[in-house]
Amino acid sequence: MSKPRISARVAAIAESATLAVDAKAKALKAAGEDVIGFGAGEPDFPTPAHVVEAAARACREPRFHHYTPAGGLPELRAAIAAKTARDSGLAVDAAQVLVTNGGKQSIYQAFATLLDPGDEVLLPAPYWVTYPEAIALAGGVPVLVEATAAGGFRVGVEQLEAARTPRTKALVFVSPSNPTGAVYPAEEVAAIGRWAAEHGVWAVCDEIYEHLVYGDNRFSSMPVRAPELADRCVVVNGTAKTYAMTGWRVGWMVAPADVVRAAANLQSHATSNVCNVAQAAALAAIEGDQGEVGRMRAAFDRRRRRMHELLLTIPGVDCVEPQGAFYAFPSFQGALGRTLRGRTPATTMELAELVLEEAKVAFVPGEAFGAPGHARFSYALGDDDLVEGITRVAKLLGE
Ligand code: PMP
Repeated sequence: MSKPRISARVAAIAESATLAVDAKAKALKAAGEDVIGFGAGEPDFPTPAHVVEAAARACREPRFHHYTPAGGLPELRAAIAAKTARDSGLAVDAAQVLVTNGGKQSIYQAFATLLDPGDEVLLPAPYWVTYPEAIALAGGVPVLVEATAAGGFRVGVEQLEAARTPRTKALVFVSPSNPTGAVYPAEEVAAIGRWAAEHGVWAVCDEIYEHLVYGDNRFSSMPVRAPELADRCVVVNGTAKTYAMTGWRVGWMVAPADVVRAAANLQSHATSNVCNVAQAAALAAIEGDQGEVGRMRAAFDRRRRRMHELLLTIPGVDCVEPQGAFYAFPSFQGALGRTLRGRTPATTMELAELVLEEAKVAFVPGEAFGAPGHARFSYALGDDDLVEGITRVAKLLGE
């Protein structure tokens, strides 16, 4: 028998449902349809002008035409260490920073560096699509811990403890959350961090939405709230969401120096350094004027409130008010099983298809995030499109 063409390891990776929805919506748009997309996981704003200028200057300087150390431009690593102290109160030095191709590469490398085959990773669900894949690709086993809408989409220590086994190596902690918009209060962050430290469980803390919190919610960094965890904590962060820089691909991990050295060694054989010009842009974003961050947050906050209000007008829909990031995560449970335009969607996957075809509105069904019955609506789109899009869904489901 001949060998399979694709390795079992890679063949097992699920297609990214968020990218699939986006692709289908874009194809319809290209065919001339007036599609409104709530699928995107990125700010609709352009990158701030002073960042773009810094990159343009770097392009003209031969020093930026060459490799940097695989772990990143030394001045950027130092700036990220200083920024980590400034923004979340965690004191680290530059040797604890690894600059990666987006936060995503940090996630892959964190699991590749920490996990041996069969190691279990506690993963609160709803989860961001990349997490189970990155864990499995590293030979780990994702163990889902359900965060319910009634519990504000947050998990507690008792639930984590119930899921812990002798094989548990790590915990994934994402606050503010993609896809739910949940933000953990400081005391819950502290309690989870203390529990992890007590049991020798590592935490991979994704802080990529740290600046996008609204109302009375405050961002809290786990190794700050539970300092005893710092030696077993990998913080993932990046420029993408804070500075509208998704396309520039600059993220980083902040971790104990031995983990950073090992992950940098891996990176040196996989991708080497992040684009040098993009690193110059990231340096300007982190060190420069932070005014744009607040202006973008204010726009997201306005859209968040509008989105939540409008979602509640859709027949059969319920929605926890999002507290951070730029996603709402309504339940469509009450809208399933009804016949609409000759079809009876039983799942949010089927409903998403029907809504895209009949109302020309794209959203990501909850199945993608381990939460059937729900759906993710990004509010990182223009105010008018937001109102028009939700109004269309409300009209269709009201028929
Ligand atoms: N973590 C979370 C929770 C995200 O939502 C994203 C982007 N969708 C990332 C990490 C990765 O971002 P990037 O690779 O663009 O920096």
